[in-house]
Amino acid sequence: MKKLIKNGTIVLEDKVIQGDLLIEDEVIAEIGQNLDAEGGQIIDATGLVVLPGGIDVHTHFNIDVGVRAVDDFSTGTIAAAFGGTTTIVDHMGFGPKGCNLHHQLGVYKGYTNGKCVTDYGIHGVFQDINEDILKETEVMMADGVSSFKMYLTYDYKLEDADTLKVLKKLKDIGGITTVHCENDAIIHYLRDKFVAEGKTEAKYHPQSRPPYCEAEAVDRMIALAKAAGKAPLYIVHVSAKESVNLIREARKAGDTVFGETCPQYLVLDESRYDDPVEGLKFILSPPLRAKEHQEAIWQGIKDGTLQVIATDHCSFDFHGDKQNGKNDFTKCPNGAPGVETRMPIVFSEGVSKGRLSLNEFAAVTSTNPAKIFGMYPKKGVLAPGSDADIVLMNPDMEVTITKNILHENVDYTPYEGIQVKGWPVMTMVRGQAVVENERLQVPLGFGRYINRKPVKYTELLK
Ligand SMILES: [Zn+2]
Repeated sequence: MKKLIKNGTIVLEDKVIQGDLLIEDEVIAEIGQNLDAEGGQIIDATGLVVLPGGIDVHTHFNIDVGVRAVDDFSTGTIAAAFGGTTTIVDHMGFGPKGCNLHHQLGVYKGYTNGKCVTDYGIHGVFQDINEDILKETEVMMADGVSSFKMYLTYDYKLEDADTLKVLKKLKDIGGITTVHCENDAIIHYLRDKFVAEGKTEAKYHPQSRPPYCEAEAVDRMIALAKAAGKAPLYIVHVSAKESVNLIREARKAGDTVFGETCPQYLVLDESRYDDPVEGLKFILSPPLRAKEHQEAIWQGIKDGTLQVIATDHCSFDFHGDKQNGKNDFTKCPNGAPGVETRMPIVFSEGVSKGRLSLNEFAAVTSTNPAKIFGMYPKKGVLAPGSDADIVLMNPDMEVTITKNILHENVDYTPYEGIQVKGWPVMTMVRGQAVVENERLQVPLGFGRYINRKPVKYTELLK
């Protein structure tokens, strides 16, 4: 069965053309001018931008952090699809003490089975490091898990000696270490101090995790990766200008370091914590920063220091579990939703406001994450032979973001009232419209698990 997307502004990896894109079954067959649908369906893309489907490599659906996130893999991937995202890579949550990686992979296979409407992958997450776990990463790679996350804070934070072992092991097998960078001792020291002083309102959340707390951990991880033989390192959710500068310098020195940021750090700032009630909506980590950090992060995106914009989608109801922090910010579950709003916010703030070209937009929202996480060129690019994962954006459509128009299963959006120009009007996964005419078009379970592959990371530095 053929489908022809006709007369669109098609965003290829290195240029933008006006033309047609022909789909045959699940893949892109041809891109060019005046193509023939040969009796197949014709989709008129006049006035629309044809982009590689969004890839969000940082979500936490269904995660249990003592309380459970309210988006599971059905509502989460449905929201993703409505927002123009065709692939997500979720993080395994922590399992029972002492469990191995496959235990959690099994748990997540259970969570995802028959649920997803987009394609999906899973990041491994380390709880403990020992010889068995390190050896197990080889089997995980064969199971399609090519990236593994470590936390430097929270319950299963890793010590430097263990992070070195991980960095070296994953380098040897073509995987990548991703890391949540914050200095755990500083956080605990400052939180305890604030609580002892009765400073328990939301505004003390960012003060307990200052920019230097993030930057110290980024600096340390860069040094450890260097010691492990320039091991591939991916810093998740960069929020501070100091971290951007450190990653830039490391890349200049030839280190294999990659950086990710998220829309919340581009359009929201720490003034959101001023209201002690509303402020709970923005308790996420690292926290929102002073406005001056936003321009530094945009600069980092522009000059290639940061390659990816993901979301860290982790949703808790404001009128539910977020209220645990009502009298003490340290009791509030950390996280905020964003999987549905990423593409329109980055398109609007990036492309519509002239900060990013269409090619740069496609790179940070789709192509780069596909490359870094072992899915390229099957995913992340509009090219013959690639999966027909496509989003049609109307670049002129103006929308005011409000909770009621979104499909995320959570009772608020941190982006309430933000106006965007540019909105996805059709989302296609492997040639099948998943969202069209503002309606879901596929059953739960349509999405497939992606067997991600090892990557030659030094080639991505070029
Ligand atoms: Zn996260």
